[in-house]
Amino acid sequence: MKIKFWGVRGSIASPGPQTVRYGGNTTCIEVRTDDDEIIILDAGTGIFPLSQSLMARQPVHANIFITHSHWDHIQGLPFFIPNFVPGNVLRLHGAYDPVSGQGVEQVMSVQLQYSYFPVREAELRGRVEYVTLTPEQSVRIGSATITPCLLNHPVINYGYRIEAGGKSVFFTGDHEPPYNIYQTGDPEYAEYQHHIEEKDAAILRGMQGVDVLIIDTSYTAAEYPSKIGWGHGTYASSFDYATRAGAKVLYCTHHEPTRSDDALEAVFRQALAEHPHARGLDIRLAVEGQVHEF
Ligand SMILES: [Zn+2]
Ligand SMILES: [Zn+2]
Repeated sequence: MKIKFWGVRGSIASPGPQTVRYGGNTTCIEVRTDDDEIIILDAGTGIFPLSQSLMARQPVHANIFITHSHWDHIQGLPFFIPNFVPGNVLRLHGAYDPVSGQGVEQVMSVQLQYSYFPVREAELRGRVEYVTLTPEQSVRIGSATITPCLLNHPVINYGYRIEAGGKSVFFTGDHEPPYNIYQTGDPEYAEYQHHIEEKDAAILRGMQGVDVLIIDTSYTAAEYPSKIGWGHGTYASSFDYATRAGAKVLYCTHHEPTRSDDALEAVFRQALAEHPHARGLDIRLAVEGQVHEF
């Protein structure tokens, strides 16, 4: 299996000299199985250069799995170049949105409204198919099995576990470790605690024993108190998941858009120093353009 990071930035694309080493594109990860199936995790702005690279070998049969519908994870979708060429097929997978009552087709149709994009969906020349997924219900893509896992974010967010040829990877999308919203002593505390422990156990099952774990690691411990409930993780929470899941390699991603490369390296160094138990782990910062083969 091979993964390539095409976008590692959180919230908004952040190009420029301050972010040139780690990259400014928003979330997009290419996963290739040994059978050369193309599985794409999220369609942030990083999917634009990825889609250009795919045009060298047509027809393109791509499978995109959307973690959730926030802009930084879908914004590149209208620019997925194979969609403009007959013979190419895109199968778009994602969650049902209980707010709008629509399936994953919504993330395309919303963006292709004529006020916002000059090409209408009916004018796309490639074929686009939509697959709305249910938590814990696996789908097969060639030799790969992909299982969506419900994580914790302001909107429905699926983490995805991909298994193929005895290898595995898990990507969270955006995720904040669930926490108890009640005070200890509150009558609702115990029941809510039970609920989040069940949720956390399900998340850990999804991550268990993976070769590569890719986690939303937006904040430092110092930043987190003012961001509680925003739906993102910290270095500490990512190290903790990797330890408990027994992951072989941890990639921290969804880098804060205001963080320069130097600042990113500084907070990463500090987080490692603050968590000596994490020293036995193989922990890396995700870098745009980086390939990990395993
Ligand atoms: Zn995000
Ligand atoms: Zn989000």
